[in-house]
Amino acid sequence: MEALVVGSGVTGASIARELAQRGAHVTLAEQYAAGTIRSASGGDTRLLRAAHGEAGWYTRLAWRARTQWLELQEESGTRIWEPVGLAWFARSADGFEARSRETLAREGIAHEWLTPQTAGELFPTLAADDLAGVLWEPDAGVLHARRATQLLAEDAERLGVRRHAGHVEPDAGLPADVVVWACGAWLPKLFPELVEVRVERRDVFFLGGETTWTGAPGWVDYDGGFYGHGDVGGLGVKVAPDFPSDEVDPDEVDRLPLPAREREARDYAARRFPALANAPVVGVRVCQYDLSHDTHFLVDRHPEHESWWLVGGGSGHGFKHGPALAEYVADCIEGRCEREAMHRLGARTGDAGLRTRS
Ligand SMILES: Cc1cc2nc3c(=O)[nH]c(=O)nc-3n(C[C@H](O)[C@H](O)[C@H](O)COP(=O)(O)OP(=O)(O)OC[C@H]3O[C@@H](n4cnc5c(N)ncnc54)[C@H](O)[C@@H]3O)c2cc1C
Repeated sequence: MEALVVGSGVTGASIARELAQRGAHVTLAEQYAAGTIRSASGGDTRLLRAAHGEAGWYTRLAWRARTQWLELQEESGTRIWEPVGLAWFARSADGFEARSRETLAREGIAHEWLTPQTAGELFPTLAADDLAGVLWEPDAGVLHARRATQLLAEDAERLGVRRHAGHVEPDAGLPADVVVWACGAWLPKLFPELVEVRVERRDVFFLGGETTWTGAPGWVDYDGGFYGHGDVGGLGVKVAPDFPSDEVDPDEVDRLPLPAREREARDYAARRFPALANAPVVGVRVCQYDLSHDTHFLVDRHPEHESWWLVGGGSGHGFKHGPALAEYVADCIEGRCEREAMHRLGARTGDAGLRTRS
């Protein structure tokens, strides 16, 4: 099989690598560079967690991906994983965290329900008086995203994948048996009639904490709309507000932070982690989400070109799944499984709540 994969973010690089492992002849095309800072996969770090509320499918996918990431790290000798665990700040006893807890128990994935007082021991400082509890995932962690994306593309090349530098336009004459469009926030630009994905900006801040923040866990305040992690790789303590924005163009969005977002990040840090109240901002990233309306991925055939697959809609939670999503997509391409109804093209309603709520 001759396959062309367009887009060398985590999704495209993983799919190209997976198809090559299965014996396909693959070309991986990229308009900028694998892990370009303009892509969602080009961020410094991404959280990997198994908790997805009641969504067992995504819980299992993340868990499978975790194994694959660790194998890639082991085989390549390149550090891409920080095993720091992840704390979910539960504002109620019956919300996303409680539903996740049931799913994790069903799937046999390690977790603990901590009192706010006990959770305080996980961080150099934590104000938890507004929390009903903390769901602790000891085997969750942080991926070095840009490095991991580039590593996937390099490993794909080692497996025989040809790299093509350049922008690919949808054109019926593309010379391949299968074309996978894994174009992240560019997918709705390429297929505006088909892909209902909203592209929004998000500003991410890194604060300069004391050395005690090195190795502190990842954390998510799901109902509050904030997430982050301790100091990883010297980047600083990550604090990310997850609030809606206007739609943006991924080629043109200005990647300087908005003062309002910085204020929100600082205020949250000061409230939740009092020792960070006066910490300086030591790093900033502006990136874009490709949001499906219901937070589910998009994995479907193009209605007019049977051999084209559209894959995207990472919706702010897609990174961790990369290699496992690729297995699923490759199975769909090879006819070993049917794409899930939740991933099909067409109008999406409801909200599966798979990412931090804002
Ligand atoms: C601020 C932020 C925080 C996030 N946090 C997390 C997290 O903690 N955990 C998590 O799991 N996920 C997280 N995500 C989501 C995750 O990063 C994305 O879902 C994932 O990286 C999307 O990967 P992708 O490969 O689908 O798209 P992208 O990374 O955007 O890659 C698409 C690639 O395709 C290329 N391309 C597009 N069109 C063409 C074309 N026509 N020709 C050639 N090349 C083309 C682009 O240049 C780009 O390199 C976060 C996202 C953001 C923005």
